[in-house]
Amino acid sequence: MTPYGAPQAPLPVALNVNENTHPIPDEVASGIIDALSLIIRDVNRYPDREFTALREAFAKYLGHGLGAEQIWAANGSNEVLQHIMQAFGGPGRTVYGFGPTYSMYGLLARGTGATWAVGERGVDYTLTAESAAAQVRAAAPDIVLLCSPNNPTGTPLTLDVIEAVYDATDGIVVVDEAYWEFAPHDQPSALTLLEGRPRLAVSRTMSKAFAFAGARVGYLAADPAFIDALRLVRLPYHLSAITQAAALAALEHADEMLAMVDEIVVQRDRMFATLEALGYAPSPSWTNFILFGGVDDPSATWQALYDQGVLIRDVGIPGSLRVTAGTEEETTAFLDALASLGA
Ligand code: PMP
Repeated sequence: MTPYGAPQAPLPVALNVNENTHPIPDEVASGIIDALSLIIRDVNRYPDREFTALREAFAKYLGHGLGAEQIWAANGSNEVLQHIMQAFGGPGRTVYGFGPTYSMYGLLARGTGATWAVGERGVDYTLTAESAAAQVRAAAPDIVLLCSPNNPTGTPLTLDVIEAVYDATDGIVVVDEAYWEFAPHDQPSALTLLEGRPRLAVSRTMSKAFAFAGARVGYLAADPAFIDALRLVRLPYHLSAITQAAALAALEHADEMLAMVDEIVVQRDRMFATLEALGYAPSPSWTNFILFGGVDDPSATWQALYDQGVLIRDVGIPGSLRVTAGTEEETTAFLDALASLGA
C-alpha cells in the first residue's frame, strides 16, 4: 500500500491540493489571535471534550434547523471520515464509492480492516440515480461515500442520486461536501435530505472555502444517534483547546472568511474557458479545481509546469491533470505556463 502523498514542494505557485490560496483577512486573523491569547492561559486543563460551543456555532452556520446534538467535528474532515469508518466499518464490512473519487476513502476504509469497493461512473464522470442505486444494491455495502461535488473530477452530484442510493442500502450513506461552498449558490445541499434519514450524514470542512486548511477542522451533520456512535471511537479531547478557539473565532467571521469564494469561482471559470481554448478537455466543475483531459503525457506536462514554478497534480487518471483555481495572478501564471508548452 502507499500512503497519501501529494508532493509538498516550495514552489511559487502551488495549485496542487485544492487549498484556498487566499490568506485569511487581517481582521479575522486578529480576532483569532485574541481568542488564542485568552485560551492559552488555560491549556494546563483538558479542553471541552464535547466542544459544545463549536458544535453550536457549526449548527448556526449550517442552518437548516440543525441543532448542536446533530453536529460532529474533528481535525479535518479526514478525521471525521475516519471516525465514521471506525464506528461503522471494520473487518467483514464493505465501504463503497464511485471512482475516480477522493483517494483517502480507500485508505480510511482499509485502515479499519474494511474492504473498499469501487463502482463506475458514466460519461464525463457523472452518476445517474438509476445506475448508482443498481450498483449499490448489487454491492450491498455497509457504508457508501458520495463525494458531492466529486474530487478529483469536480463533477456535481444531484440530490436524486443521494436519495436513490439511500433507498438502495440499509447501510450508512455519507455525502462529503468538502467543496460545497464553490457550487452554484441556488443548489440544494444534501443537508436538506437529513430529516427522516437517520443513516445519512453530510460532512464539510473549513479547509477549502474557509481558507483554514492549516488549522485542521472538519465537521459533520447527522442524526443525534449517529453522532453518539462517533463519540465511541474518538480519542478523548481530540479537538485541542487551540483548535476549538481558532475555529470558533473564524466562524464568528464566516462572511469575511467566505468572501473570496466568488472570486475563486471566477478564476475557476476563466481556467475552464482558457483550457478549452488551448485544446484541452476540462470537466465541468462545482469545486475550486478543474480536472482537464487531452494531455498527451501527463507526467511530462506536470514536470514542465513544475520547472516553471507551477505545482499541479497528477491524480493518475490517464491523459488528465488536476489544477486548483488560485488567485488571479496564480491562475494567470498557470495558464501562461501551460500555453507556453504548446508553443
Ligand atoms: N474530502 C474531500 C473530497 C477532499 O478533497 C478533502 C481534502 N483534499 C477532504 C475530504 C479532507 O480535507 P480536510 O481533512 O482538510 O478537511
